[in-house]
Amino acid sequence: MEDWISLGYLLSAALFIFGLKKLGHPRTAPFGNQLGALGMLVAVVTTILQMGLGDGIEWVLIGAGLVIGSLIGLWMAIRVEMTGMPELVALFNGFGGAASALVALSEVWRYMEDPSNVPTDQLEITVIMVAAGLSALVGWMTLTGSLLAMFKLKGGVSIFGKWIKTPTWGPVWLNPVKVMMVVGVAVLIYLSIDAPTDENYLWGIIGISSLLGIVLVLPIGGADMPVVVSLLNSLSGIAAAFTGFIIGNSVLIVAGSLVGASGLILTFIMCKAMNRTLPDVLFKSFGGSGEKESLTRTKVGSDPDEVAMMLDGAQKVIIVPGYGMAVSQCQHQVKEFADLIAEKYDTEVKYAIHPVAGRMPGHMNVLLAEANVPYEQLIEMDEINPEFPDCDVALVIGANDTTNPAARSGEGPLAGMPIIDADAARTVVIVKRSLSVGYAGVDNDLFYMDKTMMLFGDGKAMMTGLNNAIKES
Ligand code: NDP
Repeated sequence: MEDWISLGYLLSAALFIFGLKKLGHPRTAPFGNQLGALGMLVAVVTTILQMGLGDGIEWVLIGAGLVIGSLIGLWMAIRVEMTGMPELVALFNGFGGAASALVALSEVWRYMEDPSNVPTDQLEITVIMVAAGLSALVGWMTLTGSLLAMFKLKGGVSIFGKWIKTPTWGPVWLNPVKVMMVVGVAVLIYLSIDAPTDENYLWGIIGISSLLGIVLVLPIGGADMPVVVSLLNSLSGIAAAFTGFIIGNSVLIVAGSLVGASGLILTFIMCKAMNRTLPDVLFKSFGGSGEKESLTRTKVGSDPDEVAMMLDGAQKVIIVPGYGMAVSQCQHQVKEFADLIAEKYDTEVKYAIHPVAGRMPGHMNVLLAEANVPYEQLIEMDEINPEFPDCDVALVIGANDTTNPAARSGEGPLAGMPIIDADAARTVVIVKRSLSVGYAGVDNDLFYMDKTMMLFGDGKAMMTGLNNAIKES
């Protein structure tokens, strides 16, 4: 039996690793996802077999947990809109951290209930108490931080029908407080090693860690939110790895480390894409106060016929999608537009993909893949930017912050974030409903340039109108 258990865990770890590798490319990502899910199934079945359950209540409890959990997951996955994915990811991160912390808690709780359960070996108890303390620190911090991140992404919370805006607040004196909280938890973990049956230390660690999650995420806003969501994802994996040490479960250590490492890599990729360092994101609350700039300027809009006439003769068009494309779900109309101009005007079409366009990493790639846009046409920011000066038309669809030249100024919530150089194209066409600001709340000079034509309206309606105008021209 022992050998079968080891083999089961080895198989699931291998499935996780191959799944992760396949997730690296949009074409193979769905298969990678299936491999990961299969790996988790193998891990769950192996763990149940390892537990050697009798015929009693344990089966009922585990079966009920599996069925209820799967149904809730299925219901949420079916219900969620593509635009609501980041909130769902933040919620899942939080639940992941809490689940790990609860498992760790249940292990040390046995010592408090019956001191004879405490291991006699000093090294063993030291390892368990340190791992349990770290799992509690990371797990509870991830839960409260992720819940706050979810409400920040939503923009607020509805209590008894009243909408309360999620605040973004973080004076400089909060930074030493955060450091003191981490030191406080470290001291409590140290003290708990010699008193594993004393529950006061445990409650202290849980309380401070929960508060720490809130004070860490509270000052973060604007364009920095994707980084914090990715970091919390990584932390939920690290909490799982610590818990794996406590209960001696190798596959939990492997899976937790994979989530922790890949989340951290993604965090650094996003920091690089936004020209920020992780300490800046966490301690400088530079990503915006949540305040939106008020608009005073105006711009006259164009209509689809006018834009269609201008497109006749364009040799190269670069499409710049953003969050508005996800809201209006116009990716199919965008693909139809690209096919139409390629066929009718023999235009070369490419897509410029900003790493934080939309509301989750890879958001634009997922939507455009759904519309069967060839992967080779999706070009990343660094590669496509030098092509804009040779481009006749940059068609910006629902993108705002990721094209905002204010990012180059070195000031404000977008400071330092590399952008798509749509303003370098000969003509810019922007599809959005109004002149209003994007996620970071900053007015966009691109809208007011002489070479910019605004197509005011919902993305789907405007792209359908533009396609009809091209067909009729
Ligand atoms: P923005 O959020 O800057 O702007 C989106 C624009 O879409 C809005 O200005 C809005 O203008 C327009 N829009 C909304 N609905 C529609 C619609 N139905 N039809 C047409 N347009 C619409 O988008 P970007 O993608 O440029 O930037 C993403 C921002 O989100 C960045 O600041 C990024 O840091 C942040 N972020 C990114 C995450 C990620 O992981 N990718 C996660 C969390 C935040 P209007 O109302 O006038 O139509």
